[in-house]
Amino acid sequence: LTVLTGLSLCVMAKPLLPALQASCAMVAEGNNAENPGATPRGPQVCGIATDEPALVEAQAEPPPKPSIAAAPPLRKLLPRQVAQTLGPSPKPVAVVVSQAESPEASAPAGNDLAGRGEKLRRQMLAQYGGSDHSEAAVMAALKWLAEHQLSDGSWSLQHQTHPHCHGQCGNPGTMLHARVAATSLALLPFLGAGNTHQEGHYKQTVRGGVYYLLKHMRLTPAGAALNEPSGAMYSHGLASIALCEAYAMSHDKALANGAQLAVKFICYAQDPVGGGWRYQPQTPGDTSVTGWQLMALKSARMADLLVPQPVFAGASRFLDSMQTEEGARYGYTSAGSQPTMTAIGLLCRMYLGWQKENPALRQGIEDLAARGPSTNDLYYAYYATQVMRQWGGPAWQKWNDGMRDPLIALQSAQGHETGSWFIDKGEVGSRVGGRLYCTCLAAMILEVYYRHMPLYSRRSTNEAF
Ligand SMILES: [Zn+2]
Repeated sequence: LTVLTGLSLCVMAKPLLPALQASCAMVAEGNNAENPGATPRGPQVCGIATDEPALVEAQAEPPPKPSIAAAPPLRKLLPRQVAQTLGPSPKPVAVVVSQAESPEASAPAGNDLAGRGEKLRRQMLAQYGGSDHSEAAVMAALKWLAEHQLSDGSWSLQHQTHPHCHGQCGNPGTMLHARVAATSLALLPFLGAGNTHQEGHYKQTVRGGVYYLLKHMRLTPAGAALNEPSGAMYSHGLASIALCEAYAMSHDKALANGAQLAVKFICYAQDPVGGGWRYQPQTPGDTSVTGWQLMALKSARMADLLVPQPVFAGASRFLDSMQTEEGARYGYTSAGSQPTMTAIGLLCRMYLGWQKENPALRQGIEDLAARGPSTNDLYYAYYATQVMRQWGGPAWQKWNDGMRDPLIALQSAQGHETGSWFIDKGEVGSRVGGRLYCTCLAAMILEVYYRHMPLYSRRSTNEAF
């Protein structure tokens, strides 16, 4: 997805897509025992071979609908060896480095998702610049997403294959095999608005998606992998965020081990030299893939899952290697100054502990504010809007004025497309990810008022963290 954007960046830099596909094919043929991060040759469900393919193409004629409601309890999905790997449930781990020792290496903690509860959500919506219209747009997006969920609980970037859609909605994406990525991406706006597999209007929808992710985990010695040929570590990072958030919000122990093992795989996949992440595990990182993994690790810490402190220190080291202007700007695979990578880099820095007094952060904010919001590039908008919202104050108000209503105005309001977005203004991710990708990012941009608690307010410092 942003796989997509990541891919697009690769394509811009050099024609990397064929190389990626080739490398994926090589990995798919590799020996999993020697390469625990490799995409599996044979289908497995949580490490157990099954008769059905791990990656199922969206089908024009889906099989008879196995009711999601009739799915076995989530806790039964994880095999015994998973539980034995880490024990019955994760123990809260206090891996805290004092700010004095290493302010940047300290990881976020506390309930960053508290604003998603119904009461606080309404308060934060009003307090941070949301509106009835923005919330209605989010609800319409969730309705569209729910109507395009496939019968096995997943989503596809080729949303038209849903029998009820049957091609009525235009602009499908092209990465048809990235089902884990599409499913994870679709789950995030539901979770962002307070839905879990146990609570909320869309609990059955969330349940189906979470079930799909658990079912498609591959147990490896390095953790549970959800990378797939099309989306690689993008898929894994997105899936990890979804699982960690679902666990953090529900406290359902049935998700604990799956979430922990997914996080363990992220830690394994970190480039041991540079500290970043890329498409394949343990290769030199890029800022785009790294951003999703760090957001997953942030969610993991918030859920009291184990993330060894050196992983965060390595991520900071990677960001150091991508930065220019002393950390105000960031590049993609080398030190540079690219707007979207800068937005990702700054958000990562915020969650890794940079304070508002940091001159580089202040400079980065001024640069982003001068560039302004964009409805043409939703990947940029997704990260930059979070950065500006965390920064707050007049700069955020001005940003929100330029982002919120123009984005709402672009939401489709006709026919089956009602509630979705498709914006094709040259951002390659939109074309690769299609309407589903655009809808998920736009919905999460409009959830920005409550999706994450503020990092810098006294209230959140004292109560949430
Ligand atoms: Zn449709």
